[in-house]
Amino acid sequence: MNKRKFLIAGNWKMNGGPLEAAELLEGIKNSKKEISEEVDVLVCPPFVSLGMAVNYLYDSEVQVGAQNFYYEENGAFTGEISATMLAESGCNFVLVGHSERRQYFAETDETVNKKVVKALSEKLAPVICIGETLEQRKENIHFDLVSDQITAALKGITSNDALDTVVAYEPVWAIGTGETATPEQAQEMHKFIRQELEKIYDEETASAIRILYGGSMKPGNAKELLSQDDVDGGLIGGASLSAESFTEIISIAEELS
Ligand code: PEP
Repeated sequence: MNKRKFLIAGNWKMNGGPLEAAELLEGIKNSKKEISEEVDVLVCPPFVSLGMAVNYLYDSEVQVGAQNFYYEENGAFTGEISATMLAESGCNFVLVGHSERRQYFAETDETVNKKVVKALSEKLAPVICIGETLEQRKENIHFDLVSDQITAALKGITSNDALDTVVAYEPVWAIGTGETATPEQAQEMHKFIRQELEKIYDEETASAIRILYGGSMKPGNAKELLSQDDVDGGLIGGASLSAESFTEIISIAEELS
């Protein structure tokens, strides 16, 4: 099968102020002198480290993304950051609807959709995070839930714009828990998501959109997960905070490309 180009993305969460971030980026540069053109690599540091990361990585293939933004253009929204500001800062990706934002910061399918629309209008590629909790899986409503999430996130988005989006399937029960979906569970859901994308758009669009797996991906399980037909990369939390393990996952993706 003609697989899509892998995207290996690090979500640093609330880790890595400018000093720590510089050390981590230096570690990545040192342990991975060259990155194959076959693999896209992205780091998503906290807001305060974005400028530094963009400057530090200006001559590198590693791209920089943010973890969140607010969908309004500007104005009286104390504490918020707009998509325009992120684009101006040199970001080209942004995470949208991460489960931690849904859980702790009242992110809903509706706000996720507003953010997807806004990100695309600013030429930021939204990484749309979806996935079920353990309870939802036990209740066997995980497919319906994921279908609702992706359909809502892409409401009003044309197929042309959808090509600039990335989907990240992140079963909530596997995030930061050390639990990983089995390669079969991941493939089953990724295939389902691709079928949903085909229903919303068409086969060509669905087969071009990258679907990342996220949930305790690490060097020890990356090969099996990335080998699945519909797994086009990883959104990596914990393991992206170590230059060694993050670059090891990049190397695994290169080998599979
Ligand atoms: C994440 O934060 O998106 C994630 C997948 O975290 P972890 O790899 O630590 O499970």
